[in-house]
Amino acid sequence: MNDVHPARRPLTATERALLDSLLDHDFEGVEELRVQAREATASTGCECGCVTIDLHVPDGVPVSTAPSPAPVEGTVVDAAGEPIGGVLLFVADGRLSGLEVRSLDEPLATLPPPERIDWETVPDPSAERTSWWRRVRSRPRRVAT
Ligand SMILES: [Zn+2]
Repeated sequence: MNDVHPARRPLTATERALLDSLLDHDFEGVEELRVQAREATASTGCECGCVTIDLHVPDGVPVSTAPSPAPVEGTVVDAAGEPIGGVLLFVADGRLSGLEVRSLDEPLATLPPPERIDWETVPDPSAERTSWWRRVRSRPRRVAT
């Protein structure tokens, strides 16, 4: 039998930290996602060389009612606090399915640590979502102090 799926592996420490940081927020269905996250494995989620990962959870985990993407979105900022990308968590059939890390410019070569992410809870997950890049671009620029 041919296995066409990319190799599954444990999450790296940074991937784990990022996922935990996102799931630290409260939203509908997050409890089950937290349980799933403990058993999740990862595989490369994109062929462009970026740090997006697919997530896999074993059978038998509690299924979540969380919407997809999860109603917590991250803005990746650089050392100067300028937005350089976004993070979304995808859920499929109530199970963790992917952590997407997008960038405004060059693909991010390394996954940003949680301290480089500004998390934002989407107030009404059923409402039309502003796309991540529009959100990022409309984000007020930080004034140096
Ligand atoms: Zn990519």
